Amino acid sequence: MASKIPYKIYLHEEEMPKYWYNLRADMKNKPAPLLNPATHQPVTFDELKAVFCDELVRQELNDTDREIPIPQEILDFYKMYRPSPLVRAYCLEKKLNTPAKIYYKFEGNNTSGSHKLNSAVAQAYYAKEQGLKGVTTETGAGQWGTALSMACAYLGLDCRVYMVKCSYEQKPFRREVMRTYGAQVTPSPSDTTEVGRRILAEFPDSNGSLGCAISEAVEAAVTHEGYRYVLGSVLSQVLLHQSVIGLETKTAMDKYGIVPDIVIGCAGGGSNLGGLIAPFMGEKLQGKNDIRFIAAEPASCPSLTRGVFAYDYCDTGKVCPLAKMYTLGSGFMPAANHAGGLRYHGMSSVLSQLYHDGYMEARTVEQTEVFKAAEMFARVEGILPAPESSHAIKAAVDEALACKESGEAKTILFGLTGTGYFDMKAYESFNDGKMTDFIPTDADLKKGFDGIPRFPGNEF
Ligand SMILES: *Cc1c(COP(=O)(O)O)cnc(C)c1O
Repeated sequence: MASKIPYKIYLHEEEMPKYWYNLRADMKNKPAPLLNPATHQPVTFDELKAVFCDELVRQELNDTDREIPIPQEILDFYKMYRPSPLVRAYCLEKKLNTPAKIYYKFEGNNTSGSHKLNSAVAQAYYAKEQGLKGVTTETGAGQWGTALSMACAYLGLDCRVYMVKCSYEQKPFRREVMRTYGAQVTPSPSDTTEVGRRILAEFPDSNGSLGCAISEAVEAAVTHEGYRYVLGSVLSQVLLHQSVIGLETKTAMDKYGIVPDIVIGCAGGGSNLGGLIAPFMGEKLQGKNDIRFIAAEPASCPSLTRGVFAYDYCDTGKVCPLAKMYTLGSGFMPAANHAGGLRYHGMSSVLSQLYHDGYMEARTVEQTEVFKAAEMFARVEGILPAPESSHAIKAAVDEALACKESGEAKTILFGLTGTGYFDMKAYESFNDGKMTDFIPTDADLKKGFDGIPRFPGNEF
């Protein structure tokens, strides 16, 4: 190998990002504003600050400042686990016998096992700065709750997590990690909130959903003095914090003259993908590159590829503002056999707008294929990937195989968002040959679309 490019590229301290990059500043078509669900008017700072920390509301509403300085205390926290490595997947390339060069940015090198810690520490920091006592949130698979409990423990904040009941029961170890970091973890739906009691009265056997846990966490925040609600994906502020992934990646690539042809990320609510692509997309919007960006989403929860672009509720209880996004409807739930995460019904309004304007592609992948790609990756690259991340692996493998067909030596970059140690139930069903695929029919999707609010200006 004649290359002078290291196997794994890390950055020196002086090369580390000192600011987050706000992609919205460079978008000609800005994402549509959040709306008050009652009046259908854009939400104001004063309305949002009852739910979210003041500084985070400012970031949410800020679509003009390109660079937002990262406070020193957050930079110090990042030193614990950043920079994350940018890795050349030589063994995967060899296995696939492809002329493509494959790189991945690995975000699983911290106890939360995912990129979520990048935003968790930022959100906890601003809550602390404001003098709050604590924060509330929901968690589905558990990575976000874990990340937030780590950040809160570091900063000395109380952390209350509503965990989707089926995950609470299926992932007791995740729960214990959160409790080890001092979080209070409640299975949702619960009888600790109005909305939880209402849902339990109607569906006593409910296994919970993300949308329902969000409603509970928001209620818990607004009814407790000194608490605010925080969210680990979807919101523009979260994409902003996650831009640290893309900034590190771009600095590392620029340093060695590596130019990606294709950038791929898995897409749940869009935070890792939005963060990874941010600086590359910023240049594309300015006509400086022609990179292909690909969102990989589950065939069983296809918000970009089969959803509608409309204002919709962000949660089941309909207490949050309306967001304009690609959505399957807030009542949509992926089939029970779906094991791969990425189950949120909507997509970040930043990514939705970019996709709508043709700057990004999206594709669906089926879960047994995703786990096949995960197994191959684990065996040749040594990292047991999170099922979510494996959607991106699958798409990257497919692109690398297309290069083999065409003989093109493209450079493919993908985000490896985390590790899958707490997802062994899903791996077990794959290993036992019991994993199945489910693709919703148009009739299934229509039920979700029927729940999207209709009002003048929200035709879809
Ligand atoms: C939460 C999570 C995702 C999906 O969330 P996005 O906001 O779409 O990035 C992907 N991978 C891992 C490991 C996660 O924890």
